[in-house]
Amino acid sequence: MQTNLDSHAKALPDAEEAESILRSCVHCGFCNATCPTYQLLGNELDGPRGRIYLIKQLLEGGPVSDKTQLHLDRCLTCRNCETTCPSGVTYHRLLDIGRAELERRVERPVGERLTRKGLCTVIPRPAVFGALLKTGRALRPLLPASVQAKIPVRSAVPAKPRPVPRHARRVLMLEGCVQPSLSPNTNAAAARVLDRLGISVTPAREAGCCGATDYHLNAQDAGLDRARRNIDAWWPAIEAGAEAIVQTASGCGAFVKEYGHLLRNDPFYVAKAARVSALARDLAEVLAAEPLDALQPADDAIALRVAFHCPCTLQHAQKLGGAVESVLTRLGFDLSAVPDAHLCCGSAGTYSITQPEISQKLRDHKMAALESGQPDIIATANIGCQMHLDGAGRTRVRHWIELVEEALEAANAQVFARPNEAVAPGA
Ligand code: SF4
Ligand code: SF4
Repeated sequence: MQTNLDSHAKALPDAEEAESILRSCVHCGFCNATCPTYQLLGNELDGPRGRIYLIKQLLEGGPVSDKTQLHLDRCLTCRNCETTCPSGVTYHRLLDIGRAELERRVERPVGERLTRKGLCTVIPRPAVFGALLKTGRALRPLLPASVQAKIPVRSAVPAKPRPVPRHARRVLMLEGCVQPSLSPNTNAAAARVLDRLGISVTPAREAGCCGATDYHLNAQDAGLDRARRNIDAWWPAIEAGAEAIVQTASGCGAFVKEYGHLLRNDPFYVAKAARVSALARDLAEVLAAEPLDALQPADDAIALRVAFHCPCTLQHAQKLGGAVESVLTRLGFDLSAVPDAHLCCGSAGTYSITQPEISQKLRDHKMAALESGQPDIIATANIGCQMHLDGAGRTRVRHWIELVEEALEAANAQVFARPNEAVAPGA
């Protein structure tokens, strides 16, 4: 696509990247076929090709308005279009650049500004988020229905104790921002399974939110500062030989894997950020590389029929579609088929708050697809998807590692419950 950035856009730090992405799009429109918002709204400007045009117009100095903002806000950043695009257009980077520039050109109404500010203030701070969640749960009956809908109905599974680090093999694990309050057992379950595989998790509690929330709400500098803080928190353990930085939330993993690119112009962090991104692994990648035969889950626990929802940040951003399914299958779980598994569930970070109507529709479609195989439980790999889908109040949704850990724990319990069988004469 021919481009002619205006002088202001040419001066942006990401001008060259934006121009090269715009030029790589050949305007074929294949991407529209898999775009959830195009499918729902049927408007060219609510599909990737239309949004690319809007960003081109913006960067070429053309007219922009609140309508431009609406079409870009409606994008889920699910990156399904990137998976479909035959020309390798890195759409999400163009969107990041376009959104940041649009934010400077078009002022949002006060209500929207306050909502975004509130999200950036609360979500990345685990203590603040946890306190608000507790208060919200206590006051639920007194709150308006719209606020009640945002408070998880089901109570979280309490965290089991984490193993004391004892193995020579060490990894770091991102604790995250909302996950410790909403699903405190997820990282504990991951640490317990890794411990069984001979891998210990080095605590690094000074690391916190990955920065994606700020970054994707156009507070990009704040998001990058969180990335720098995490790099500083992890660095001593990296120098001491940590072999990976494990993420149990695929949304965080996708963002940590971008630290190297996003900080490429920062002379103080460029090398460290690249190293951190190179070490970042989704939990499924770590387990996939281990001899899972050593793990013996209980037969009745793996007889559960599981529907797996593969988050967009796992399949489209990290290109790890099928990774969790493969681990679960190797362990013997019974997976049900899920139609249209490439489509977003509508969670998309803070999208369920900023675009509630589209988000609800996508959740309804996704739940129908997940439940079509009549599963006992739905598993996923990202806290945002987990809470969004579980909030439908239908089939229970949990992180897949919790199912694995419980199946291993159940097998242990059975062995201890039948000590005589284990030492039967002649055995
Ligand atoms: S599929 Fe790729 S090249 Fe074709 S219009 Fe979409 S982004 Fe552009
Ligand atoms: S990121 Fe998702 S919602 Fe946005 S344009 Fe691409 S496919 Fe559509």
